[in-house]
Amino acid sequence: MYEFFDLDPRVRQAGERAMGVCRPVFEKMDTVRDYNQAKVLRAFADNHVSESHFMGSTGYGYGDRGRETLDAVFAQAVGAPDALVRHNFVSGTHALTVALFGVLRPGDTLLAVTGAPYDTLEEVIGIRETGGGSLREFGVLYDQVDLTEDGAPDLAGIAAKAAGAKVAYIQRSRGYSLRPSLSIDTLEAIIRTVKQANPDAVVMVDNCYGEFVERKEPTQVGADLIVGSLIKNPGGGIAQTGGYIAGRKDLVERCAYRLTSPGTGKEVGCTLHESKPMFMGLFFAPNVVSEALKTAAFAAALFDGFGYPVYPAFDEPRTDIIQAIRLGTPEKLVAFCQGIQKGSPVDAFVSPEPWDMPGYDSQVIMAAGAFTSGASIELSADAPLRAPYAAWMQGGLTFASGRIGVLLAAQSMLEQGIL
Ligand SMILES: *Cc1c(COP(=O)(O)O)cnc(C)c1O
Repeated sequence: MYEFFDLDPRVRQAGERAMGVCRPVFEKMDTVRDYNQAKVLRAFADNHVSESHFMGSTGYGYGDRGRETLDAVFAQAVGAPDALVRHNFVSGTHALTVALFGVLRPGDTLLAVTGAPYDTLEEVIGIRETGGGSLREFGVLYDQVDLTEDGAPDLAGIAAKAAGAKVAYIQRSRGYSLRPSLSIDTLEAIIRTVKQANPDAVVMVDNCYGEFVERKEPTQVGADLIVGSLIKNPGGGIAQTGGYIAGRKDLVERCAYRLTSPGTGKEVGCTLHESKPMFMGLFFAPNVVSEALKTAAFAAALFDGFGYPVYPAFDEPRTDIIQAIRLGTPEKLVAFCQGIQKGSPVDAFVSPEPWDMPGYDSQVIMAAGAFTSGASIELSADAPLRAPYAAWMQGGLTFASGRIGVLLAAQSMLEQGIL
């Protein structure tokens, strides 16, 4: 590979060392990949997926067997009774919005049990009011149980507040914070606590970035609904857009009523040309997730070797694909992201710069050279230019290419004398 990418001997050697320490970690990732690939393959076979399911439909999309079969395959793959997998979800935030509005009614309380939810949900819930239309405006109340200082769930606090909640909301991934992601075992403990305090509470999990990282999904340890984006893990880098909601049949139906209309629900919604990429993406997802995890572990090992704090460590158990690296200065962040960009298959020739992104209180720099715009299952890195000057990177459709991107990030810092 060094024939094609000019890397300083220091970066090369550090890279070889990182590969060495990662090997046993990669082997474990392979066993999870193999398990999840078999799980997904079984779901395809059991649901008699065939070429006719890829044809797509137009107009209302009545009787679209591909759409119905994809729902069934996806549901089985995540161990849920039902699923709503649609290209019509424009983003993960949209799928989460549909799920929240689908289940909550005026006077209900939404209880976030793992601290503040992902940034984009603040306006959905009404924690931050801007244009209107939030849950709050519709009379849905909000309460929150913060994580403990070390990032663990506050089970006593959850037990105390769950009785009054209609929805207990969990975020699995770290998002853009340095708190740890929550493992399936931890989710199980949270869900048990909620259900003991309030058997009627609906447990909803923001599963973004978590799909196929572990052997189980939250729906297999008691979650009533899981929600995510198809331009992250479960789209396998092939789905062009979309999202999913999976879980209890009655709840999925309510969400379908919200996505389309009461009465028609899942029965409508044409698939155009999106069926095949969604099927193929789901099929590839366990493998692509494993490649992204290897890229993350490699980055952790490499930058730990250069003396930077990394979250998680290369050999820590993972439950999402995100790798945070605390670089410490704005110059380092920019150089890092510019290096990642150079290792992208698309737009490798451009150089990202920090900009004032709407909705953020500091400048943000983003490295993204993806086939699908904004797809973060593809190698990407984002960083707000504020303390602690950490980069959050994720994705990598193939480890062989993701590794080059990570090495180029180090090279870019080295060339500016700030590695
Ligand atoms: C990506 C993500 C979302 C949804 O973001 P979109 O950009 O709208 O797809 C929600 N929660 C978490 C934790 C995420 O990582």
